[in-house]
Amino acid sequence: MTKLDSPITTTGSIPENAAGGVLHIDLDALASNWRTLRDNAGGAETGAVVKANAYGIGIEKAVPALGQAGCRTFFVAHLSEAIRARAVAPDATIYVLNGLFTGTCPTYAEFDLRPVLGSFEEIEEWAGFCRGRGQKRKAAIHVDTGMNRLGLTVSQGLTLKDRAELKDFETALLMSHFVSAEESDNPLNIQQIEAFQAVRSTLPDVPASLPNSSGIFLRDKPQYALVRPGYALYGGNPTPDQANPMKPVVGLEARIVQLRWVEADHTVGYNGRWLALSKRRIATLSVGYADGYPRSSSARGKSNDELLAGMALVAGRPCPFAGNVSMDLIAIDVTDVPESQVQRGDTVTLIGGDLTVDKVGRRAGTIGYEILTNLGSRYARTYRGGQG
Ligand SMILES: *Cc1c(COP(=O)(O)O)cnc(C)c1O
Repeated sequence: MTKLDSPITTTGSIPENAAGGVLHIDLDALASNWRTLRDNAGGAETGAVVKANAYGIGIEKAVPALGQAGCRTFFVAHLSEAIRARAVAPDATIYVLNGLFTGTCPTYAEFDLRPVLGSFEEIEEWAGFCRGRGQKRKAAIHVDTGMNRLGLTVSQGLTLKDRAELKDFETALLMSHFVSAEESDNPLNIQQIEAFQAVRSTLPDVPASLPNSSGIFLRDKPQYALVRPGYALYGGNPTPDQANPMKPVVGLEARIVQLRWVEADHTVGYNGRWLALSKRRIATLSVGYADGYPRSSSARGKSNDELLAGMALVAGRPCPFAGNVSMDLIAIDVTDVPESQVQRGDTVTLIGGDLTVDKVGRRAGTIGYEILTNLGSRYARTYRGGQG
C-alpha cells in the first residue's frame, strides 16, 4: 500500500473490514487545491463552495481544512448546511446560495449567516427584517446573466441602485454564475462577463464575484473581489480540454465478496443484460447503486464489446463491469488478471489513479460532480491530513 506522511483518521462506526467500500479522502490535497486556485485567481479572495456536504466529502472535515489553508468565505446551498458549517467555523463568512426562504431571517441572524438575495421579494424581506432590528446586516445579491434560473434579471439589476431598500442592509457582494465556463471558447462566457460588468458599474463600491472553478481559468477576465470554486477543490478538472491542474481528493475502493467462473453463453446480473461469449472469471464487489455508484454505469452487451460503462482497477489493470449495477453489488470481468492477483477479500479501485472522478462520471453518462455528491453513507471513510 502507499506510504503515508500524514495521520489517517476513520470516522463513523463502520470498521474498514466490515465495509463494502472504503472512501479515502485526502484533506491535504483539498488544501493544496485551494492554494492552487488562489494562485490562479488574479489576486481575488478565494472562497470555497461547500454545498451538498462539501461535494460529498464531509462538510465538518472540509471546512476546517480549508480554513487552515486560509479560506475565510464559504458558500452553501441550504440554510441547514450553513448551520453545519457555522458549527465548525465560528468566525468565517458564510453565504447561502439558494435564496431567502420566507420567515427564515431570524435564523440567518442567530447564526450570523448571509443570504444570497435573488429577487426583489427577497430583498424586501431582508431589508424589512434589518429595519425592524435596527441592524444593517450583510447579504449578497445574485444577478442572473444567462442561466435563467436564480437571481435578478440584468434589467432588474440595472435598477438596483435606485431602490430604497438597499439602504437598510449592507450589500457585501454582487454575484452572478457562469452557464458553461468549462467550455473556454463558449461565447456565452464573454456575454455573461459583459452583462455582469454593466450591473457592477452601477454599484461600483460593492465587491463582485463571478467565477466558479472553471471561470478562474478563463483567459480573458476582469478583476473580481472574490472567486467561488467548488468542484476543482475536490479534484475535478476545471479545464476539461487540458491536463487537470488539481490533485485527487477522493479515492474509492470496493471489496471483492466472491469470485466465480461463468461459462460461455451465460449472462451476469439482473435481466441478463451481459453475455459471456467465452468462459469468464467474474468478481462480485460489495458496492452498488444504493452506495451512490450510478446504475447508469451498467455494462449491457457481450463480453468482447467495448462498452462505455463502469470500470474497476484490479492489481493496476482496468477491468470492465459485467451486467447491470445492482442495489448492493457490482460484477466485474477479471478474466485478464492473473488468478493469483484477484482473491476473495481483496479490494479493487473504483475511483483513483487513472480512474478519475471525471472519467467515472463520463462512463456513467453524467458528470463527476454527480459522482462526488452521491458518495454514499455506507462506506467506511478515512481522512488523511487536515489536522493542523
Ligand atoms: C455550485 C456553485 C459554484 C461552484 O461551482 P463549481 O463549478 O463547482 O466550481 C459557484 N457558484 C454558485 C452560485 C454555485 O451554485
